[in-house]
Amino acid sequence: MSTKREGNIRISSENMMPIIKKWLYSDKDIFLREIVANATDAITKYKKLVELGSAGAPAAEEGGYCVKISVDKDAKTLTVEDNGIGMTEEEVEKYITQIAFSGAADFLSKYEKAGGDGIIGHFGLGFYSAYMVSENIEIFTKSYQDAPAVHWESDGNSTYSIEEFDKTDRGTKVVMHIAEGEEEFLEESTIRALVRKYCQFMPYDIYVNYKGKDDKPVNNTNPLYLKNPSDCTEEEYKTFYREAFSDYTDPLFWVHLNMEYPYRLKGILYFPKVRNKVELERGKVKLFCNQVFIAENIKEVIPEYLMLLNGVIDCPDIPLNVSRSFLQNDRQVQKISKYVAKKVADALIDLFNKDREKYEKCWEDTSMFVKFGCLKDDDFYQKIKDVIVYKNLEGKYVPLTSVFGTELTEEEAKEGKQAKAVYYVSDENLQAQYVQMFKDAGLDAIHCDNYLDPHFISFVEYKEPKKVRFLRIDADVDEALRAAETGEDAEKDNKAIEKAFTDALKDKNITVKVNSLKNADVPAVVNVDEFMRRMGEMNRFYGMGEMPQQLTLVVNAANAAVQSVKDLGEEEQKFVAEQIYYLALLSYRKLTPEEMKAFTANNLKLLQVYGKKD
Ligand code: ADP
Repeated sequence: MSTKREGNIRISSENMMPIIKKWLYSDKDIFLREIVANATDAITKYKKLVELGSAGAPAAEEGGYCVKISVDKDAKTLTVEDNGIGMTEEEVEKYITQIAFSGAADFLSKYEKAGGDGIIGHFGLGFYSAYMVSENIEIFTKSYQDAPAVHWESDGNSTYSIEEFDKTDRGTKVVMHIAEGEEEFLEESTIRALVRKYCQFMPYDIYVNYKGKDDKPVNNTNPLYLKNPSDCTEEEYKTFYREAFSDYTDPLFWVHLNMEYPYRLKGILYFPKVRNKVELERGKVKLFCNQVFIAENIKEVIPEYLMLLNGVIDCPDIPLNVSRSFLQNDRQVQKISKYVAKKVADALIDLFNKDREKYEKCWEDTSMFVKFGCLKDDDFYQKIKDVIVYKNLEGKYVPLTSVFGTELTEEEAKEGKQAKAVYYVSDENLQAQYVQMFKDAGLDAIHCDNYLDPHFISFVEYKEPKKVRFLRIDADVDEALRAAETGEDAEKDNKAIEKAFTDALKDKNITVKVNSLKNADVPAVVNVDEFMRRMGEMNRFYGMGEMPQQLTLVVNAANAAVQSVKDLGEEEQKFVAEQIYYLALLSYRKLTPEEMKAFTANNLKLLQVYGKKD
């Protein structure tokens, strides 16, 4: 056996570790991923040799290929051991002593170039990241080749030692002597949690504090997303969902991704239930590279709106060891993002066409993703708009595009003709009277009660200005609700009614308009201009205060009580007009305390009239 040799690490790196330690501080957990990934890589390399039938490469010994992680609190060590390819002395010198350090230098320069934009965890810093938590590291390794085993040791600063060692079983053991202050990495529970996070789908069994052959690995070496979609059962998808996201409610449905070009990409995206949640909860899309966890919710790879989904995506070719700004500008990466969005749209369209019932059952949940996606991505909107559905007054889902009008011609648009008005209900209870009037007149409207809808309908108007405009059901009295004009007498009549109401309500800040409606039961309705109302809502949304709303009282000349007003004395006129006004207001919004007081007083007066009769 040769004697122990000591040396200086080749590059001037005395100051590198403190810098790396500081920069990596927030993400230091990733050292375990790096060390375990090195171990699984080493197994893959060896396995390849076995498959190629290379001399001196017997298959894995009993127990198979695996990585064993152990923590020893007394010795203050964390050990990762594999039965992979191993290293000869030359290889240790080359890959660990020299390359790793130059790799670190390379990393530093890249990191500086990238402006230190905080995705440190995506750089493959590799072996040396273990110095973030270790004061000293030893490597015991035996190559598959006929060469002596090696023991390497370094405190990660400028010196190291290397010597031959007596190890007969093939593979590498990395012993990390955990530094003071980093004792959490000596807790088995911490290590288990980290392995679950970073190594959940790594391709070889990983054990923490291995207890014998009945022990179960921490990871799943064969995650479902790698399987051919046609071989996966519904139950398997659900089980995998629970495993990957620890969510015990079943997902609504899923999209299995499988792309070969321009990047290889496999994965499953799940639509979770979101109903009844006040805020849209942010989903999780976990990104893997060859079954090694990289990060969650990388918005350069997955469109932001799809991060409301839960999913796993594995891109073996994606250049994740480069900076985020590179990813942003990388056309290939943008293609991935587009591909994923397209696949999601395809899956929704497919479900819409093949299983409308299920599609509609999921819609309340999926509509969140879809609408959010449309707002963020025009391509997505164009692709998916025909399967966006809204409930009509009958409670049936109808495609939004089916209620659009025929597109205005250039000519019509120039003449100022407006696109077709589609009425919507935003609050079924509050707008019940309007809904009833619509139903009686055989008119339809759609329910827009999702909290994204106000933005969404404005967006659709902007996208389809010649096909549709939206009016809240109380915005206007539609032509179809009005009775046919009945000539001069009626007009005179209406004038008299208008005057009576205007006089009676002159202190009420409301404009009076008289129409003859088909539905004679309703004395009046309140209308509010759509545009002004939306402006007001926007002001409120941006905290710019309240805007006064100009309301219109549409008085129904076909109603008997209304007709009677013009023949009453001044005091009675005021009484009846006010009563009609408050009733209409009640169907529009809550009364203010003053209005409520006045309305109650009026009602008590009415009771007295009945009381007298008895
Ligand atoms: P990277 O993994 O990015 O190449 P590392 O610093 O992690 O960088 O490792 C440098 C090299 O050291 C690896 O490419 C590999 O050749 C060798 N190595 C590291 N760990 C092991 C191991 N457990 N078994 C065999 N070789 C290893």
